[in-house]
Amino acid sequence: MQQVAHFIGGVKTNCDTQRKQDVFNPATGEVTAQVLLGGQNEIRLAVSAAKKAFVTWSETAPLKRARILAKFKELIEKNHDALALCITREHGKVFSDAKGEVTRGLEVVEFAMGAPHLLKTAFTDNIGGDIDNWNLRQPLGVCAGITPFNFPFMVPLWMIPIALAAGNTFILKPSERDPSASLMIADLLSQAGLPDGVFNVVQGDKAAVDALLHHPDVAAVSFVGSTPIAEYVYREGTLRGKRVQALGGAKNHLVVMPDADMTQAVDALIGAAYGSAGERCMAISVAVAVGCVADELVEKLSQRAADLKIGSGELPESEMGPLVSAAHRAKVEGYVAKGVEEGAKLLVDGRSHAIRTHSNGFFTGGTLFDHVTANMTIYKEEIFGPVLAVVRVNTLAEAVDLINGHEFSNGVSIFTASGGVAREFSRRVQIGMVGVNVPIPVPMAWHSFGGWKRSLFGDHHAYGEEGLRFYSRYKSIMQRWPDSIAKGPEFTMPVAK
Ligand code: NAD
Repeated sequence: MQQVAHFIGGVKTNCDTQRKQDVFNPATGEVTAQVLLGGQNEIRLAVSAAKKAFVTWSETAPLKRARILAKFKELIEKNHDALALCITREHGKVFSDAKGEVTRGLEVVEFAMGAPHLLKTAFTDNIGGDIDNWNLRQPLGVCAGITPFNFPFMVPLWMIPIALAAGNTFILKPSERDPSASLMIADLLSQAGLPDGVFNVVQGDKAAVDALLHHPDVAAVSFVGSTPIAEYVYREGTLRGKRVQALGGAKNHLVVMPDADMTQAVDALIGAAYGSAGERCMAISVAVAVGCVADELVEKLSQRAADLKIGSGELPESEMGPLVSAAHRAKVEGYVAKGVEEGAKLLVDGRSHAIRTHSNGFFTGGTLFDHVTANMTIYKEEIFGPVLAVVRVNTLAEAVDLINGHEFSNGVSIFTASGGVAREFSRRVQIGMVGVNVPIPVPMAWHSFGGWKRSLFGDHHAYGEEGLRFYSRYKSIMQRWPDSIAKGPEFTMPVAK
């Protein structure tokens, strides 16, 4: 049985780790590997390697760091298909979608390749009395990334390139459910010339996460995953004086206004609700139908949801693959049962899709509910599966109140032909990322990604300028030379004259 190992100090190692967990191909239900589950010992070794490497890496010129990232980018491009296949085989998403994930990760590398420019800071000549004042952006030290199963390549790459560009060293604790992409990242970084110890991977679960949170030499933690764990990581990390950004779960709404282009709105909802089997933090799980639009919208969605082409992500004709695990499928289907029990109208039942019985993979079909209300469990909780809930409201104001009342605030979208409505909505809605006639508004690498409220704990969004701020700290330097120093002590607060 193939083993998914750790990567510490430039080498793959099993560190004598005893605990292991099966890794599955979700499309077949077969066990394809076993991942090691590290803990305190493995984290201690990784932190020690990263701390040692920090001494030289933090002093390496930003241009040299950028050149290694440029080589890394080239290698990702060369291995684009292999990376995507690795994702499809452990996550289940369709190959074309996995390729898109690789590209979105690659774009953060492209952003971080601008390190020399990005790390430039402000200088003020002569703030007064022949004193000059400028800033430095210095690295934090050993940084850690804890990542979810749903983007095993892209989410680690929201963190790694920017952390490294800023001069930090890094330990990745990937999801134990699809861990192999992490070792491909390690291998490509090594091939690109990254010195040993600058990037490390410790495979594992809660034990490895806790060891990172407790280690005094971990300066910063970036987390992406579900809200309860994000809150836990934020609380435990900040309690120990670490800088923490923790991105959590979501319940993303798409508002369809009466003046929306119906075909575009339906296409958008089908792709955003059922793409990647709904296992995206920016998936749309609630369609908010405003006014008279509801009946036509629901009718069109029903046909399309029932006609989804479901199958292995490796088959080019598949539009939707399986869920990541049998346990996750049971959870998603449990929500469908709960929706029926609480009185939502079930229009398409994914549990009865033919593939459910004809395959050993973790498949379920696309589910569509109508007449969902804000007090129902399927509205309140993140399902993270191919389940779309339609909520009917009368006005835009009602839609905004509904959305602003939800605990999650990751992404939202509105479909309308009116600039005034779009502007009003974008300004009033309390959500981190807004799309206008764009179903999944994931910002590009040089902008930044993050939700509000219980979708993000911490002060910084991920990647882009916010990522650079997170992975560096400001230092202000003020300097003058002996020939301009006034004689004698100064007892008053110095001010510019
Ligand atoms: P998860 O919270 O179960 O796991 C995330 C990470 O935390 C994994 O590395 C896991 O090993 C670790 N972990 C799990 N349980 C833990 C515990 N009890 N203590 C410490 N660490 C623990 O999330 P997941 O199921 O892998 O991913 C899906 C979730 O991630 C969804 O809620 C989704 O919305 C969210 N997500 C959010 C974003 C975002 O940008 N906001 C992006 C992707 C995914």
